[in-house]
Amino acid sequence: MPPAALLRAAAEVLLTDNELAVLRGAADGETYAETSRRIFLTEKSVSNVATRVMRKLGAKTMAQAVHLAHQAGLLRRERHGDHAGYTAHLRRGEPPCEPCRLGERAYRNGKREAA
Ligand SMILES: [Zn+2]
Repeated sequence: MPPAALLRAAAEVLLTDNELAVLRGAADGETYAETSRRIFLTEKSVSNVATRVMRKLGAKTMAQAVHLAHQAGLLRRERHGDHAGYTAHLRRGEPPCEPCRLGERAYRNGKREAA
C-alpha cells in the first residue's frame, strides 16, 4: 500500500475518546450499562458509539472489534477514567483529563468507604 493510502486508512480508523473508552470497556468485559456509568453516557449512547467503533474497524461484533483493535495497537494507548489513568497522567507530567479526575475521585471515595 502506498504511504498516502496507508495514512488515509489510518485516519479512517482513528477513534474518538468516547469510541476508545467504549472499546476499552468491551476489552475489559464491561456491559454497556457498566460502560455508560463509567463514562457518563446513556446506555443507548454507548450502544451507538459501539456501532460506530465496529463500523470504523470493519468488525461485525464488539468481540471482533476488540480483537482487531488489539492487532492494530489501538488498545495499547494509555487508559483514562480511573485511578490507573489518573496516575499515568501524573507520571507523564501532565494535568489529568476530566474522565481521569472523576475516576480518581470515585477511586478515593471507594477507598474511604472501605476503610
Ligand atoms: Zn485521562
